[in-house]
Amino acid sequence: QYLSGNEIRQKFLDFYAQRGHTVLPSASLVPEDPTVLLTIAGMLPFKPIFLGQRSPEFKRATTSQKCIRTNDIENVGRTKRHHTFFEMLGNFSFGDYFKEQAIAWGWEISTKVFGLPSERLVVSVFEDDDEAYAIWRDKVGVSETHIKRMGEDDNFWASGPTGPCGPCSEIYYDFYPERGDDIDLEDDTRFIEFYNLVFMQYNRDADGHLTPLQNKNIDTGMGLERMAQILQAVPNNYETDLIFPIIKTAAEIAGINYAQSDEATQVSLKVIGDHVRAVVHMIADEIHASNVGRGYILRRLIRRIVRHGRLIGIEGEFTTQVAETAIALAESAYPEVRQQEDAIKAELQREESRFLKTLARGEDLLSEIVEKVKQQGKTQIDGRDAFTLYDTYGFPLELTQEIAAEHNLTVDEAGYEAAMSEQQTRSQEAHETIDLTVQGSLDKLAEEIKVTEFVGYTQFSSTAVVE
Ligand code: ATP
Ligand code: MG
Ligand code: MG
Ligand code: MG
Repeated sequence: QYLSGNEIRQKFLDFYAQRGHTVLPSASLVPEDPTVLLTIAGMLPFKPIFLGQRSPEFKRATTSQKCIRTNDIENVGRTKRHHTFFEMLGNFSFGDYFKEQAIAWGWEISTKVFGLPSERLVVSVFEDDDEAYAIWRDKVGVSETHIKRMGEDDNFWASGPTGPCGPCSEIYYDFYPERGDDIDLEDDTRFIEFYNLVFMQYNRDADGHLTPLQNKNIDTGMGLERMAQILQAVPNNYETDLIFPIIKTAAEIAGINYAQSDEATQVSLKVIGDHVRAVVHMIADEIHASNVGRGYILRRLIRRIVRHGRLIGIEGEFTTQVAETAIALAESAYPEVRQQEDAIKAELQREESRFLKTLARGEDLLSEIVEKVKQQGKTQIDGRDAFTLYDTYGFPLELTQEIAAEHNLTVDEAGYEAAMSEQQTRSQEAHETIDLTVQGSLDKLAEEIKVTEFVGYTQFSSTAVVE
């Protein structure tokens, strides 16, 4: 059954409200938690409750939480399901109901409220979680072919090396059940993860020992855009009613048609659709473009919008016009967005015109470089020059290559990479890095901008990079 994004959100909140959950508004994208830059999951505003630092006002809550995950930035437009900005629908139990009830409701809302055929659902459980396995098989009636045991990376959640943690269980939708019972959940042409149920049941001590928690908690997350993709029967999240109108506006400005565009153009339109939503909500939550922290994330997202606009043939300023569509889409669920309309447009306008000037200066420099190369009778632009264009003028390599190609020139990519890694070595030497993450992994963007960053839902990073 077709449901709009707004209807899906409402049905989720209503379902859990009817089951004793207090509906709370989305928290700001700017978290209270100082260890993360942006709100990356529905549970983040409740983290102090889960950690036992604050006592809950309610035993059960449900929210639709604005989230931003910059660790998915490279996936944007390339996978069918990842965004920087998305909405996470969640139901939470603070020492109240636990595994069996969370699973039963998770299944009920998926199959009854959203009407997904049960034979199209596959569930994952943590490899050691026999309890969850048995609930899915015996209480819910899922066949064993459709219950998959998965490892720690996907199916165990911890908020850090010590503290509350526990296994999780996820629900996947199968787009092609006719392909049979040989199920590989990694195959994202066939399956999409849409609902994660986290069973916070242990405390992990410094030796890695797990002891059962007195108060067990439930934390869940369902991706609104993913449920919309499924229910609206569109090929990806971007073509849902939550995002596609933004893409249409951008395509109109560029004078092109999404459906008739080639792959690269569609990726650019998807990046614009995603990032415009992100920046509209970020500015509505009073983030300002700058060179540090979340302000730099905002700046980088705006620049990517502008750059992809140029890649699809938009010459002048266009971000405020596209933002208008995003504001109209968001306002019923997030009134703060309309209230901040003027601030959003002013910020976008300022950043965009500034960046366009930088780009123009870069273009001038590039013309000089092209002339020089031609005069010398060469056919290749120096990698170092390409790097300067990137580093100082925000010219990504592809843009330089594209312009070079117009003059029948190529770019020395190896030289560009060498200049890039030389600079990275220099900046590494200049910064002392303290990495406190469980896996010690820093996401690319965090590395680039030297800030605290989130590395995944399965753990909260307390990566601190000290300059
Ligand atoms: P994936 O494996 O697809 O990257 P995940 O396991 O990282 O997803 P969780 O951390 O479990 O995602 O988040 C809970 C839910 O939030 C997911 O099941 C999904 O529906 C949604 N979600 C997570 N990341 C994104 C994203 N980048 N864009 C859109 N929805 C997302
Ligand atoms: Mg996953
Ligand atoms: Mg998950
Ligand atoms: Mg992920």
